[in-house]
Amino acid sequence: MSSRAWKAVVKATSAHAVSDGWWQPHLGEQELQTVFDDVWQGLRSVCPTIPEAHNVDVGFDDRLLDPTDNDFKYVLGYAERVEYLSQGVWKSGLSSEAGRNYVASRGHEYLGTVRIAPSPPGGWFRGAGECETKFRLEDILRHEVMHLIGVSATIRESLTAENTLVVGRPYAGYCFPGAFDSAIHNAEGEPVVSGNCLFKGQLGLEPFFVNNVQLFQYRDEFVSGTSMSHLRSVHAMLTPAVELCDPAGVKPMTTLDGAALAAINVACDASQLAVAVDGTFTSPEFLVESLNSAQNGSEYFYHHLTKSAGVLRSACWEDLRLRLCISLLGCLLTTFVGLS
Ligand SMILES: [Zn+2]
Repeated sequence: MSSRAWKAVVKATSAHAVSDGWWQPHLGEQELQTVFDDVWQGLRSVCPTIPEAHNVDVGFDDRLLDPTDNDFKYVLGYAERVEYLSQGVWKSGLSSEAGRNYVASRGHEYLGTVRIAPSPPGGWFRGAGECETKFRLEDILRHEVMHLIGVSATIRESLTAENTLVVGRPYAGYCFPGAFDSAIHNAEGEPVVSGNCLFKGQLGLEPFFVNNVQLFQYRDEFVSGTSMSHLRSVHAMLTPAVELCDPAGVKPMTTLDGAALAAINVACDASQLAVAVDGTFTSPEFLVESLNSAQNGSEYFYHHLTKSAGVLRSACWEDLRLRLCISLLGCLLTTFVGLS
């Protein structure tokens, strides 16, 4: 979520007692599951090549937003997906019916996991009451589904070498990039991730694209799971910042989101996509001030931590379970407290 949105929600919530009717009703497991199912089928009606059965384990995690938990106190939710190796790239098992069937045939009951906070300040907005100073449950879930389907780069900091970025994951002694990685190109249209996982671009110094839609970067900092895994447009569902609930309805899937999905071979019905323009952040330049920048006063972003689970000998492609830890703000709130 965005820090600006978070502050607005906290402020509004503090003005209302729990019992005064302003709060959203408690969200239970069953309702969450139902909303997620609806979100999945709603997106599938736009992008019919994603699997009919999602096999995503959806639930709550009490650690999220727990003020005593340093890892999760500003995190609204997270997701992870199972990937498989196909045609030289790692693909999300949720990107196609064939992928789902393959991963399921290998004994995986779940192809993804989504966990959200039980109750953000004011409660999850689900369609009644005041919307503007709450977070809309569907917005979060729709955004996460885009990552579950396969949008996110694996570019990340090396665990063994300092100041080194690595791409992709190994299998049988060779490294293979993710499908989204291999779709990344520079302004000249040249791919910047090679088949053997070399990254040939200059992060922070040049713009990058998938399918000619520009990816999000910070000006002077690389944040794994955020940088290069979102689009540089505040209007796309794949924007790095989620904003406050819009009374007009859920954040629509845009032509930019459709282009990003097309880059990983997920086809969407163009007639159902809202037209959005690229590069709509307020900064006139292609890079955005980083979280730690003194100039950062107007741009706020998701913070997706990308981690890989431990290697399992029985199924190498399970290394590829990406944890796309969603949302927010660990760094952001700290930064703003420091600035004010
Ligand atoms: Zn995201």
